Amino acid sequence: MKISENKIYDPAIECMDRESLRALQSERLRATVAHVYANVPVYRQRMDEAGVKPEDIRGIEDISKLPFTNKTDLRDQFPFGLLAVPQSEIVRIQGSSGTTGKPIVSGYTENDVEVWTEMVARSLTSAGAGKEDIIQVTYGYGLFTGGLGAHQGASRVGAMVIPMSSGNTQRQLMMMHDLGSTMLCCTPSYAIFLGESLREMGYDPKEFRLKSGCFGAEPWTEEMREKLEELFDINAYNIYGLTEIAGPGVAFECPAKNGMHINEDHVYAEIVDPATGEPLPYGESGELVLTTISKTGMPMLRYRTHDICVLDETPCSCGRTHVRMSRITGRTDDMLIIRGVNVFPSQIESVLLQIPGVAPHYMLVVDRINSTDRLEVQVELTDEMFSDTVADIQKIKNRITEQIKSVVGVAAIVKLVPPKSIPRSEGKSKRIIDNRGLTSK
Ligand code: AMP
Ligand code: ZN
Repeated sequence: MKISENKIYDPAIECMDRESLRALQSERLRATVAHVYANVPVYRQRMDEAGVKPEDIRGIEDISKLPFTNKTDLRDQFPFGLLAVPQSEIVRIQGSSGTTGKPIVSGYTENDVEVWTEMVARSLTSAGAGKEDIIQVTYGYGLFTGGLGAHQGASRVGAMVIPMSSGNTQRQLMMMHDLGSTMLCCTPSYAIFLGESLREMGYDPKEFRLKSGCFGAEPWTEEMREKLEELFDINAYNIYGLTEIAGPGVAFECPAKNGMHINEDHVYAEIVDPATGEPLPYGESGELVLTTISKTGMPMLRYRTHDICVLDETPCSCGRTHVRMSRITGRTDDMLIIRGVNVFPSQIESVLLQIPGVAPHYMLVVDRINSTDRLEVQVELTDEMFSDTVADIQKIKNRITEQIKSVVGVAAIVKLVPPKSIPRSEGKSKRIIDNRGLTSK
């Protein structure tokens, strides 16, 4: 298999023998640990508590001695407590929705933006991008890393970038058609929606020049890939990432389409048992834990992603040696991704607790209708409210809808249900019914 040859694809790094790669990772891990120990009080405190000094980390094989970092740490240290450099060195903030109404923010130095750009550029190159390409970026621009991340990578490749941002299907298709976009970057569900709308709007798919797409930011399936490839007559590639580590491009598919190569010269990946935190060997399914080894602004030590997957270090037919991660098959927490937005049931719960007249019993029902996610929030009324007037009940419904939109960032359909109609459970209550079939849990 031939990998497109341009300046971004660097076999010296991407096809490095694994022993040399380990040496590089060891050197970078040592530097990262020394840097955060000296500059981030929380890391120093955690390491002291665990009885680990920077000099105990001689190489990558010592990584499991380090304490984990969790999403709650980003929330507790919000906004700048995890910075390892003076604020003046930070040139960018990006964020994603967190466990409360507040976003999780990540600070980038110039170096970190560069590292991230390189990772995305490699991803796009692997999907066939080059100078001649016209790349339509349909991820949202803003705090969310999708838009700017893809934009930077596409610019680095030297392609012509169309910074569409998300939404406005008609306009997306018109630009794709008229400008002759050759690559598309967006969430897989929106890409399918675009592919279906194209026909409904009377376009002839043959008039489009699209040849490939990098799709990510949410879980998807092989069936969705087949559908996308057929709808647009393209190669559809998976791309993975998260704000805490950088953004999209942490891992990407190559033409073998058999797992995503993790950019291991920048990010070290482990799989751990989600219950015990014990490291698991390659090939076993568990929680992905990532450590940044080249970031300076807000490095992450052993970050618990809560994403479940399998790592594969066997040789890949493309020649790249970096370990491959499988599709995400589930989450170890209850995070949902709805229309590309991370949603935690606890955020919805916090909204409901502030609204008189409803009980804290709810159920989230997620469906995918015409390739678009639909979130229904079923909420129980209290006995008093249940006997109230229709107008009052409608008022509550509107208030919940508005609050969810503003706190969680997604539009939901609120359905008020009679008292005690949501099933009670004796153990952990079941709050989610996800009918999208995206995970294998
Ligand atoms: P965010 O930081 O808001 O971009 O969200 C990151 C999360 O999105 C990850 O932890 C994953 O759960 C999910 N995600 C990103 N890319 C993918 C992908 N290609 N497949 C499945 N889930 C993904
Ligand atoms: Zn490969």
